[in-house]
Amino acid sequence: MKLFAALALSVVLVILGASAQASAETAAATTTAAAQQITRAGTQSSIVAAPAHFAGQPPRIDPLWPASSDINATGDLVTFEPGAHSDWHTHPAGQYLVVESGVGLTQQWGKPMQTIRPGDVVWCPPGVKHWHGATSTTAVTILTITGTVDGKNVTWMEKVTDAQYDTH
Ligand code: MN
Repeated sequence: MKLFAALALSVVLVILGASAQASAETAAATTTAAAQQITRAGTQSSIVAAPAHFAGQPPRIDPLWPASSDINATGDLVTFEPGAHSDWHTHPAGQYLVVESGVGLTQQWGKPMQTIRPGDVVWCPPGVKHWHGATSTTAVTILTITGTVDGKNVTWMEKVTDAQYDTH
């Protein structure tokens, strides 16, 4: 009889323990308010950049995400047609460029032009003057991740001269 009583008590304790654990897990789940979010392919329209700050055909921009209080940087896929490229510019909080397809060019002011290929990752530090775009014969698509300060992510400067671009 004592043995039966001990077993019965054990069962009750196990049930109570499981119940307490379940309550703890529920509490943990409900205190995590944010949910994973998937923006589905094809739900954000492509746009064409304003031509003012580019040479050749203005690039197509496929927006990926806006700057937010979570990650203060925009993400875009930017596609330059052959011969197209940006003007000289800087970014107040820097910019990553990741080449996705094609072959492109970039150049920092005062340094040699660089050919960039799929998989190459370029870091443009804050305030460093540079340009980027396609070669004269190949298009390029670049993932751009651009830091934002007070809603601004670029300061445009002068045109890249034909003499500068033609050296590649
Ligand atoms: Mn840039």
